[in-house]
Amino acid sequence: MKNVAIIGSTGSIGTQTLEIVRVQEDLNIVALAAGSNIELLEKQAREFSPEVVGIWSEENAARLREYLADTDIRVVAGMDGLIEIAELSSSDILVTAIVGMIGIRPTIAAINAGKDIALANKETLVTAGHIIMPLAAEKNVAILPVDSEHSAIFQSLQGNVHGDVEKILLTASGGPFRGKDTAFLENVQVEDALKHPNWSMGRKITIDSATMVNKGLEVIEAKWLFDVKPENIQVVVQPQSIIHSMVEYRDGAVIAQLGTPDMKLPIQYALCYPERRYMAGDRLDFWTMNSILLEKPDMDTFKGLKYAYSAIADGGSMPTVFNAANECAVAKFLDRKIRFLDIYRIIEECMASHTVIENPDVSQILDTERWVYDFVESRW
Ligand code: NAD
Ligand code: MG
Repeated sequence: MKNVAIIGSTGSIGTQTLEIVRVQEDLNIVALAAGSNIELLEKQAREFSPEVVGIWSEENAARLREYLADTDIRVVAGMDGLIEIAELSSSDILVTAIVGMIGIRPTIAAINAGKDIALANKETLVTAGHIIMPLAAEKNVAILPVDSEHSAIFQSLQGNVHGDVEKILLTASGGPFRGKDTAFLENVQVEDALKHPNWSMGRKITIDSATMVNKGLEVIEAKWLFDVKPENIQVVVQPQSIIHSMVEYRDGAVIAQLGTPDMKLPIQYALCYPERRYMAGDRLDFWTMNSILLEKPDMDTFKGLKYAYSAIADGGSMPTVFNAANECAVAKFLDRKIRFLDIYRIIEECMASHTVIENPDVSQILDTERWVYDFVESRW
């Protein structure tokens, strides 16, 4: 039996993780945490009987305690609750399905407690990869990628040695606005940006896909997960999302993982690694697929990628600024307070106004995040 804790259980990755747990009999839920959806969290708690559930606000925790009064499930709240769940003595693996940098402290707590991590929460690795990767190595903890591209890379690396990797070919769908120009992007609305062509995901990452900030975050995520130089990570647009990513080796061989776009595969692979297990669902049909399309990314229009490469080049606290400015800007865009292209303007201005802190510790990362939020609030 493998005991699983999930932070972010009510979201897109969280609910799909529970679909896997429902099918795989040797996976058992010991803890669940969510932001504010107490109705769904209560339902999940009743179905999976964890030891503990966490909800962000004290007020919601009090309500949830009443709802679950007829069970022996403990209810915890806030950051202390997330950390308690991350460190829970009965759990073997933590699925980080939470969105944003809020995942940093629970992820570090889980690694310190010796838990493996099924990592979906890329913002944490982008901002604190220099802390997380060495700590995981020290604690002998596995960081198993859930992001589809990183899972594809991880799968394509199996059986090979790190020194033979020449480059990572990270695929991107190009998002809903692929092929459009800046004039078109000037007027796009929230509804347009939320229409992803291939994947159904949470709202924040869907906007990130439209700006290509998501691919930028993924370049930084890949750098940390696979210890490759950014110049050896090449983004390739593959609009059908069939090639999930590839690895090129020193002998010229390119190994890829292909499949239909379904996050349940990378989630299951991370939870059951190194085993491959049956999974129901569509299979690729190479007889009906006439072609696999490939394109070069347009980094001048979709500047998310360009800013990411520049943030890694600056290093230190700059990826935190890139990420925090984007988190803040996306929240404002979703609230209809700013326009689509303002997301780029906000990121650019925050990055231009920041003095890099080399090798920031967790409190410096969180201070940088706060600085970005205050800076953005004072201007937009
Ligand atoms: P989502 O918005 O659908 O879900 C986010 C989850 O986090 C929800 O359960 C929410 O309740 C929880 N949450 C938010 N704030 C919280 C708080 N303060 N305390 C506790 N829980 C909180 O997001 P998602 O699309 O599932 O994405 C989650 C992460 O996975 C993101 O980092 C995203 O980039 C990454 N990811 C998602 C997909 C996908 O297909 N959805 C693919 C690759 C990577
Ligand atoms: Mg991805």
